Amino acid sequence: MDLNTVTALHRPGDRTDLTGRLGPGTAALAGGTWLFSQPQPDLHTLVDLTGLGWPPLTVTARGLEIAATCTLAELTGFAAAPGWPAAALFRACCEALAGSFKIWHTATVGGNICLALPAGPMTSLAAALDGTALLWSGADSQRRIPVAEFVVGDRRTVLRPGEVLRAIELPAAALAARTAFRRAALATQGRSGSVVIGRRDADGAFVLTVTAATDRPRRLAFAALPAAAELAGALARIDRWFDDPHGAPDWRRAVTLLLAEEVRAELA
Ligand SMILES: Cc1cc2nc3c(=O)[nH]c(=O)nc-3n(C[C@H](O)[C@H](O)[C@H](O)COP(=O)(O)OP(=O)(O)OC[C@H]3O[C@@H](n4cnc5c(N)ncnc54)[C@H](O)[C@@H]3O)c2cc1C
Repeated sequence: MDLNTVTALHRPGDRTDLTGRLGPGTAALAGGTWLFSQPQPDLHTLVDLTGLGWPPLTVTARGLEIAATCTLAELTGFAAAPGWPAAALFRACCEALAGSFKIWHTATVGGNICLALPAGPMTSLAAALDGTALLWSGADSQRRIPVAEFVVGDRRTVLRPGEVLRAIELPAAALAARTAFRRAALATQGRSGSVVIGRRDADGAFVLTVTAATDRPRRLAFAALPAAAELAGALARIDRWFDDPHGAPDWRRAVTLLLAEEVRAELA
């Protein structure tokens, strides 16, 4: 839709040009699939990040760096090395966003995480693989925070005014792990009501990440595969289940318990 309060668009080509652009009344524009989907009466300026030329996917000595501007289509196209079986989650998580071909080719990993919907599948992916958010501010400052702690609630993140999400860093150890993915939604093409991802590391450790069913990622870590009752007990300690038209809290809790046990059994 037309954003008729927006009167300025900047498209910085480098970090110097980006510096100082973000502030009150201004929003970072990535794919724009959410920004242009509803009125934005508080905005007068957009800062288009797609001119910054960040390489979408970079294999580093520590793992994989996913630029905030990497699209879902680029992420699913990543040809992972055979030693990174967890990369199978890229497609599974992208498919959890039931958008069209057009959305997949425009929506970005960073836009999805910064939007911070409970059903944000890039948050699910990054939180499950111990992803770290690299945040830029000003001309040369940066900080890092685990993605599981970056999203703190429905549409809430720890992003500070003027900060921009530059990249998500996935460690090689998590990419080398075995994983299992489950998702439930009330409708076939509906938004996720629960996304459960399990990870079994080389040392036998087990990590279960719950998203969509809760307002922020919930990460349950065990030194070894837990027994079914132990896992159910840990899930029972989740104090709040998300409530919106995509699922009632009691349904989300029940379905998450079922999916978690399937994940546990698959990774046993
Ligand atoms: C049919 C359809 C289905 C959808 N299904 C889902 C779904 O299941 N789950 C879901 O989570 N979303 C869904 N969406 C919403 C949206 O399309 C996605 O969340 C998408 O990934 C947003 O990415 P974007 O790049 O288009 O973000 P934009 O719309 O460009 O931006 C989203 C927000 O993030 C901010 N932002 C973007 N990039 C950065 C950055 N690098 N640093 C700081 N702030 C930034 C923007 O200022 C804005 O506030 C759906 C949309 C459609 C049209």
